[in-house]
Amino acid sequence: MNMMALRYGDDIIVIDAGMMFPESELLGVDLVIPDITYLKQNRQHVRAIVLTHGHEDHIGALAYILRDLNVPVYGTRFTLALVRKRITEAGLLESTTLREVMAGRRIEIGPYEIEMIPVTHSTIDCVALAIRTPIGVIIHTGDFKIDHTPVGGAGFDIHTFARYGNEGVLALFSDTTNVERPGITPSERAVVPRIEELARSAPRRVILSCFASSIHRIQQVIDIASRVGRKVAFVGRSMVDNVEIAHDLEYLRIPDGMVVRSQDIRAFDPRKIIILASGSQAEPMSSLSRIAVDNHRFVSVDENDTVILSSRIIPGNEKAIFRMLDHMFRRRALVYYDNSAGVIHVSGHASQEEQKLVLQLVKPKYFVPVHGEYRHLFRHAALAHQLNVVSGEILLVENGQNIEFTEDGVRRRDPVTAGRVLVDSGSLEEIEEAVVRERKHLSEDGVVVPIIAIDKHTGKLESQPEIVSRGFMSDDDSDLVVGARDIVLRTINDSNAEERADWSVIKEKIRVDLKRYINKQTSKRPLILPVILEV
Ligand SMILES: [Zn+2]
Ligand SMILES: [Zn+2]
Repeated sequence: MNMMALRYGDDIIVIDAGMMFPESELLGVDLVIPDITYLKQNRQHVRAIVLTHGHEDHIGALAYILRDLNVPVYGTRFTLALVRKRITEAGLLESTTLREVMAGRRIEIGPYEIEMIPVTHSTIDCVALAIRTPIGVIIHTGDFKIDHTPVGGAGFDIHTFARYGNEGVLALFSDTTNVERPGITPSERAVVPRIEELARSAPRRVILSCFASSIHRIQQVIDIASRVGRKVAFVGRSMVDNVEIAHDLEYLRIPDGMVVRSQDIRAFDPRKIIILASGSQAEPMSSLSRIAVDNHRFVSVDENDTVILSSRIIPGNEKAIFRMLDHMFRRRALVYYDNSAGVIHVSGHASQEEQKLVLQLVKPKYFVPVHGEYRHLFRHAALAHQLNVVSGEILLVENGQNIEFTEDGVRRRDPVTAGRVLVDSGSLEEIEEAVVRERKHLSEDGVVVPIIAIDKHTGKLESQPEIVSRGFMSDDDSDLVVGARDIVLRTINDSNAEERADWSVIKEKIRVDLKRYINKQTSKRPLILPVILEV
């Protein structure tokens, strides 16, 4: 979830505060944010949160953690524009201090002097951080690739990395994401020829979906549209919002008269339009998912429409994405979703050769790979070993692990509390892990509810116990129902008057006996919730 705390004496700064979307086993959890127990315990020392860029996995937790930890947030203009939108929705704008810093500038926070070094990535206004501390410079790359021909704005500032490298860098923290890819990640411009060819030859409407934060991609599609004589329309809330923010801040150039309003799309000549839609990961309720099943107010997919998925298929989303694309194929659309016949998407993360270049330029004393699964960290460490430019140690650090740099070395300290907090986005409430385990249990084995009516005065059963179940057995399991009823009856009959008067005892006895019986008969372990009605 990309959150790192840096502490010198009594001054802590936090780098990024991301969130992630839950795996499907986390039933009913809308998002996952970092556990900030350590920061709360050291609340009086936390000076700021400094952001590298505006992707969800770097800013998404702010709307939740700023409630608990009200500290100033530093970031570049576009990054803060995205943050501002999120915290406004969360009602935290008034209480939050946002400090805008231009890429290339320096700021001072407590004992730290921080330079925001421009880097290239799949969104705009991204920076690496060079943090000067009393014992040396720490460089955190944020997410990056080295794009020598960026679509707009500053390029990757190789010179500044080299300058710090020459001066001497204590530790480098660098993005591992694409360490499994040899070579160099192509420039963002690499997508132009193929997308332009598809747009030029498209017999009808073009619907292109990319991440709404991919402002460069959106810019290039707008430029392509104007070259092939088409206009553009934007659909999907995140797409419309991000385009508006980027346009207001002049990060997007849209020629006058270029935009078709969404309500005019249906009536517009299909040979003259490119529709930019969000929902490339087939998120439920997203525009593209709804377009695919003809459930969108303004856009439908018809025979010979061209659909271009200009984004990565994030592992875990394959099923949903291909189900969505199947709907497009069923409607006889022309669907393009990979680079097999020409590049329609490039990654925003550095491949091996770029990672090597950064290591060469920075020549750190210590190297800590970050941002990735353990295998990525491991392979990035191996890459650094090959280069032989790290004079001290290469450290593999996992969540919560704590490392201390001193003038004469580095050592591992006791870990701090770290982990995940599960959030229900509707109520903004935290969901306990135990609740999720219970939901998982329910989803696997269902629930069985024995209902017993007992006379309050006599302690006698008023009627036969009833067995209600959900997600456990079908009606024709009547043998099992009869058996379960017998078990409940026997449990009650075997209990003495005192036990029968104490409902928590009798409930527990029924639960234990029924559990044993059902497990023996079916080898399943449904949740058993005895209910006693007082009559
Ligand atoms: Zn990113
Ligand atoms: Zn990231």
